[in-house]
Amino acid sequence: MRQVYLDHNATTPVLPEVLEVMLRYCRDDFGNPSSVHRYGRRARVAVDEARDAVAALLGAPAASIVFCSGGTEANNTILQGVAAALKDKGRHLVTSQIEHPAVLDTCAYLETQGYRVTYVPVNADGIVEPEAVAEALTEETILVSIMHANNEVGTIQPLAEIARLVRERGILLHTDAVQTFGKIPTRVDELGVDFLTFSGHKLYAPKGVGGWYARPGTPLRPLIYGGHQERGRRSGTENVAAIAALGKACELAARDMAREAARQLQLRQALEHGLRERIPAVRIQGEAAPRLPNTTNVAFAGVEGETLLMSLDLQGVAVSTGSACSSGSLEPSHVLKAMGVPAEFLHGALRFSLGRSTTREEIEYVLAILPGIVERARALSPAATP
Ligand SMILES: *Cc1c(COP(=O)(O)O)cnc(C)c1O
Repeated sequence: MRQVYLDHNATTPVLPEVLEVMLRYCRDDFGNPSSVHRYGRRARVAVDEARDAVAALLGAPAASIVFCSGGTEANNTILQGVAAALKDKGRHLVTSQIEHPAVLDTCAYLETQGYRVTYVPVNADGIVEPEAVAEALTEETILVSIMHANNEVGTIQPLAEIARLVRERGILLHTDAVQTFGKIPTRVDELGVDFLTFSGHKLYAPKGVGGWYARPGTPLRPLIYGGHQERGRRSGTENVAAIAALGKACELAARDMAREAARQLQLRQALEHGLRERIPAVRIQGEAAPRLPNTTNVAFAGVEGETLLMSLDLQGVAVSTGSACSSGSLEPSHVLKAMGVPAEFLHGALRFSLGRSTTREEIEYVLAILPGIVERARALSPAATP
């Protein structure tokens, strides 16, 4: 059976060149970077070179990059670490209603620890309006956290404008850039952020590695104490093989970014046009907003997204109904709810996220099978009968 993977926002395969690097640092150059002998020195060089590659993608000094276990840990460290470091200055944080659970759940935890959090709404296109962030700021605000692009609908947030309003008040700004890192430019000075989160497995490196950028001099209490690795900012023996792999993935992303973004955007547009032409009552979420080139979230009125997902899976096509973390539950996505998506579309959404391996033939295959799947689901759905 044909296999079509259109869930790259959930995770990506490790590229062959990236796997080669990873194997080398598992098998041959396996030393501990803290060791003084040559095994250790070779591992240290690998970690340093990976840091340079990440720093190049971010336009940041290498010393401002810290490696850890991934996007979730990075978001936790920054939110909890700034909150702890600045608790005498204020105990108010601002974020948006469409953040990843790694931000929202950490904020919920901080609320149990005596902090106050404002969850700024988004407009109907899934955009956080800079004025809404500005209005949420108080004398007590210590940190604002707004994602760069949303993982479910792909909308790209106006971070530079938000940064201007936040930083003129002397407040720190964090962005979860897991979905943009390696896909579109993420230079920290252009974004105007003090902290930025990235993850390896959304960019063709392995799972379990990622990290953060922290502007030099910004206050941040570590989440993990121990052996003083990463200059004491994140202890624990470095995951050398995965870090080296992430460095390689960054090099490849930098080399191919413009070409892949243009190619995937064309395929995504072909998918959107094709679905519109072939299926009545479809809605593309955030259509008017700037969006990631690889992502489209399409809702089909009167059906359950889960039903469509399972039918597509039976025919070899892997998509998502939103974030992987909330799938399996029939609760509609918090992102679509925040956008005020009309009720008839709220349950029938599918996220298609394209990647390096996506071909025109794969898009044509989806366009060939999905109209029939939707038609059958609609015929069976009680919601669709008048
Ligand atoms: C995947 C994802 C994360 C979590 O990253 P992990 O490395 O899987 O922990 C955080 N934020 C966004 C926007 C994501 O898409």
